[in-house]
Amino acid sequence: MVQQLGQSGRSVDDVIDDLAAKRSNDVKWEDGRTFGMIYDGGPSVHEVAERAAKLYLHENALNTKAFPSLGAIQSEVVAWTAGLLHGPETAAGFLTSGGTESILCGVKAARERAKAERGITAPEMIVAESAHAAFHKAAHLFGLTLHKVPVRDDWTADVEAMAEKINDNTVLLVGSAPQYPQGVVDDIPAIAALASSIDANCHVDACMGGFVLPFVEMLGRDVPVWDFRVAGVSSISADIHKLGYAPKGVSVILHRTKELRRYQTFIFDQWLGGFYASPNLQGTRSGLPMAAAWAVMSHLGIDGYLELTRVTLANADQMRAGVAEIDGIRVLGDGQYHLLAMANEPDDPNPIDMFALGDALEAKGWFHDRQTPPDSLHSTVSNSNTGVIDRYLEDLAACVAEVRGTSTEDRSTNYATLE
Ligand SMILES: *Cc1c(COP(=O)(O)O)cnc(C)c1O
Repeated sequence: MVQQLGQSGRSVDDVIDDLAAKRSNDVKWEDGRTFGMIYDGGPSVHEVAERAAKLYLHENALNTKAFPSLGAIQSEVVAWTAGLLHGPETAAGFLTSGGTESILCGVKAARERAKAERGITAPEMIVAESAHAAFHKAAHLFGLTLHKVPVRDDWTADVEAMAEKINDNTVLLVGSAPQYPQGVVDDIPAIAALASSIDANCHVDACMGGFVLPFVEMLGRDVPVWDFRVAGVSSISADIHKLGYAPKGVSVILHRTKELRRYQTFIFDQWLGGFYASPNLQGTRSGLPMAAAWAVMSHLGIDGYLELTRVTLANADQMRAGVAEIDGIRVLGDGQYHLLAMANEPDDPNPIDMFALGDALEAKGWFHDRQTPPDSLHSTVSNSNTGVIDRYLEDLAACVAEVRGTSTEDRSTNYATLE
C-alpha cells in the first residue's frame, strides 16, 4: 500500500483527537479485563513514569558521554536488579529494549564465550519446549543449532532429556523462572550443574519472574532457588516492563561477571565515523524507557513491589481456586505465582472447546492469549486485575455453561502477530 502524507500538516489537537479515536477497538486494559501485555501499577506509578518519560522523551542513550545521566540510570537500574537477584559483587549487565533483546544478548554471549574459550565454531544450545520463542529467534539469527527437549508431566524442563543432547558443541543450556505457558519454575540447579559440567553457559529466563519471585520470597512463600545463588548460572534476563511495572521498552540482561558480559558487546574501531562500542542490539536508543524504569523502581522501592506482589498473588490464587471449582475446566500444572493456563478436563465426555470459551469471554470484555498444545487460555495476572476477579469467575462459569457442546473453527493462537 502506498499513500501520500498530507501536504499541509494538521493542528496538534486534531492529530491527538484522531490518535485517541484510533484506540477505540483496542483491548480496554484500564478496566482490568486483560490478562497480560499490560501491567498497571496504579495511579502514582503512571504519574511518575509519565513525568520521567516527558523529561527523557528526546534523549539518546547511543552515547552516554553526551548523556552521562543515562549511563548512570543504566548502571543504577542494573545494580538494583543484581541486588534483587542475589548477584555477586562482580555482576554486570545492561539495559535492553525488552525480554527478546535480553535473550538475544544472552545467547550471543554464550556463543562468543564458547568460541573464545573452547574453540567451538558450530555452536549448539538446549532448551525445553516451554522456553520462550525468543530463544528460537536467537538460534535463527545467530546461527546456533537448537535442541528442543520435552517438559515433564509437571511442565518443567526434562533435565535428563537435556543431558542426552549435550555434546562437545554445546554452548548454552536454558532454564525459565518461570516459563511462560504454564508458569512453573524449571529445576535451575540441575540445569546449571549440567552446563557447568561442560563449561557451557546457563541462561535463566526470568523475563516474567525477575520482578516477582524475589518479592514472593520476601513475602515468605516457598520459591525454589533459581537466581545467582545457584552456582553455574551465568546470565539472567528480567523484564522491568512486565511486573516491574515500567512502561514498555526496558529489560535487564545480567551476567555473573564483567568478563562474561564482555562476550555480548560489539566493538569496531575502523569506521570513518569513529570508535563504535555497542552494549546490545540497538544503535540509537531512546532514553525514555530507561528513565521511566528508573523512576518507577525508585518510586516503588522494595515495599511498593511487595504490596503489588501480595495483591498479584491474591488475584492469581483466587483465579486458580475459582477455575478448580468450575466443572469442565482445570488449571494446567501446579504454578504458584502469577501465571496460569486453563484447559478442559480431558476425560470429560463432552469436552469444552477452550477457544470457543476464549471467544465467549472476549465477548464479555475479558482478554486471554490462546495457546496450544494443549488448547488452553493463558493469564498473566498482575495488579492490573485487582478488583475484578469475582466478576471474572462469575462470567467464566457462565461462559463455560454457554459454550458447552459448541466449537469454533478458529484454531489460531496468536502470542505475537506480524501486521
Ligand atoms: C515476555 C517474555 C519473554 C520475551 O520478552 P519480550 O519483552 O516480549 O520481548 C521471554 N521470556 C518469557 C518467559 C517471557 O514471559
